[in-house]
Amino acid sequence: MIVAIANQKGGVGKTTTAINLAAALALRGKRTLLIDLDPQANSTMSFLDMATVSRSVYDAIAEPAVALSDVIIQSPFENLAIAPSRIALAKLEAKLVGEMDAHFRLKDKLESLLAEYPNVVIDCPPALGLLTVNALVAATHLLIPIQSSYFALEGTDDLLETFEKVRQRPNPALKLLGVLITMHDRRTALARDIRAQIQKVFGTSVFNTVITKSIRLEESPAYKESIFTFAPDSSGAAEYYRLCEEVIDRV
Ligand code: ATP
Ligand code: MG
Repeated sequence: MIVAIANQKGGVGKTTTAINLAAALALRGKRTLLIDLDPQANSTMSFLDMATVSRSVYDAIAEPAVALSDVIIQSPFENLAIAPSRIALAKLEAKLVGEMDAHFRLKDKLESLLAEYPNVVIDCPPALGLLTVNALVAATHLLIPIQSSYFALEGTDDLLETFEKVRQRPNPALKLLGVLITMHDRRTALARDIRAQIQKVFGTSVFNTVITKSIRLEESPAYKESIFTFAPDSSGAAEYYRLCEEVIDRV
């Protein structure tokens, strides 16, 4: 399974979901690769010290001679490896202009690694450009985090249009794994309304698991830990663990 976590809206919980879903899969004994495709490198920084990152996914995608395995770093956690990002990724679009295989670079580089990493989680940047398209072309599944907020559904049409385009040609096997409601506040009527609205639009695609607002989830990256080691008894840990189970059931 190769899950792309995408939504071109910024700050909706893509990175939080990518790092904790990857950590949950690793915790269940599954060899997992977390690919950070965002130049902001938030996933990378959530587990690694940037000073230890000399080469990134950028090098593997941009340079034919560099393999993805050359840039992968084992995280401090069992079963969890990371293909790190650096700000250089922001230059990729310009670098690949005119290259016929620009959209297929990640897919091609990932192919030989799937035996070693049966589970791959890709954290996408908040844009629908070349990086996100590379993720969707390489992926078997798309997971869309949607923040529980008044503007939650704004922009999802564009994301679904990109999803359909990728399915028409380069990757017909791509499936919508599900829509994940994040940063939900159970106490407010507005949040309940928004949840109902998201369910009306996406139906059974919406995961039963809802991620509630939690300071612990916000804090864990600062300590270079997933929620499972940072606050194993927190609601965030329980929710992301349940999400992982739902993901495994759906695949
Ligand atoms: P970007 O589009 O910039 O990549 P993103 O979609 O990856 O953002 P995150 O970085 O995961 O979003 O989350 C945005 C902010 O919200 C971060 O500060 C994160 O710690 C916080 N956050 C994410 N999920 C939760 C949650 N369930 N409860 C509280 N804070 C959260
Ligand atoms: Mg992010």
